Amino acid sequence: MNTKIWTVQSTEYPQSIINEVATFFQEGKVVAFPTETVYGLGADATNDEAVARIFEAKGRPSDNPLIVHVSMPEQMDEFADRGSPLAQQMIAAFAPGPISFILPVTETSMLSTRVTAGLSTVAVRIPSHPVARNLLESTQLPIAAPSANSSGKPSPTRAEHVLQDLQGRIAGVVDGGPTEEGIESTVVDCTGEVPIILRPGSITADQIRAVIGNVELDAGLTGVTSAPKSPGMKYTHYAPDAPLYLVEGEIKTLQVWIDRFQGEGKRVGVLTTVDSKADLIADAVLTCGQRGDIATVAKALYDTLRQFNEQNVDVILCETFPEDGAGAALMNRLRKAAGHSYLY
Ligand code: AMP
Ligand code: MG
Repeated sequence: MNTKIWTVQSTEYPQSIINEVATFFQEGKVVAFPTETVYGLGADATNDEAVARIFEAKGRPSDNPLIVHVSMPEQMDEFADRGSPLAQQMIAAFAPGPISFILPVTETSMLSTRVTAGLSTVAVRIPSHPVARNLLESTQLPIAAPSANSSGKPSPTRAEHVLQDLQGRIAGVVDGGPTEEGIESTVVDCTGEVPIILRPGSITADQIRAVIGNVELDAGLTGVTSAPKSPGMKYTHYAPDAPLYLVEGEIKTLQVWIDRFQGEGKRVGVLTTVDSKADLIADAVLTCGQRGDIATVAKALYDTLRQFNEQNVDVILCETFPEDGAGAALMNRLRKAAGHSYLY
């Protein structure tokens, strides 16, 4: 399959591009597009074959449901129940933005059952990225869109990442440059009385608590043992080719582990921030944002993880970050990329 590439600036581009992509969606084709979190791999969520093509292109397990993207809350009524007080408050406070709401599926839902993997709930999001919004408004279709990477690889924050994984496997990609947030949306269960975070993201627990007065974390997020309520959280994710270890402690400890692995004849890569680059000696020291500004680390994380694949390293060592605020989502992704492997 020839993968068509459209290049757009985030605010200035011909509407004919959007119209062409909208036609692709109407024809059941799969097209990747930028959102404020990561690139999404979109298809018509009401078209069973189109949705099947998403799973096939990504190699995604069929029991891992997809997030449905819409342009405004009213559009959710075609398939989801947004009527509860909690759902209404959450949507009013946080949409559009980097957050997905878990809502009950309605009996009259037009969605392909593949989207929800047979669950009675559906994840729905209104992205704020101007290109994504324009696309959703132009198609007027609910668009199922997981991250546009091969299953298990780091999510794509640039169109080049999408092409690395999916060129020839999808109908097209809209290249809107690097994405703003860099990690996937916060997933929040809004089916009860208290919001439950199933996947941390750039909308933090504190932000939700400030609006609703209360928020819980899914038990599956705090331990490795209990089953996560968000099906996708049980799979290995975001992994670079070489094994990744999280090193607890000071930068000195990181150097001790670098020396130890090098002593075993291994080529060692290090994932750190600009703050510590000068203090570390390894085969490849890649920096990812500034330690004092977690948002910059999150934004650069997946691109940096992918860069290690060109460094021919045998092992990657990474510093850890405080888990408060935006650090919760960052450490969630790092732990998954590392398969929960720590060194002390
Ligand atoms: P992705 O779009 O690839 O970032 O993954 C979507 C995430 O949302 C996965 O972790 C899914 O398991 C989760 N998700 C989607 N639908 C539901 C749902 N109905 N209930 C719980 N989690 C969901
Ligand atoms: Mg994903």
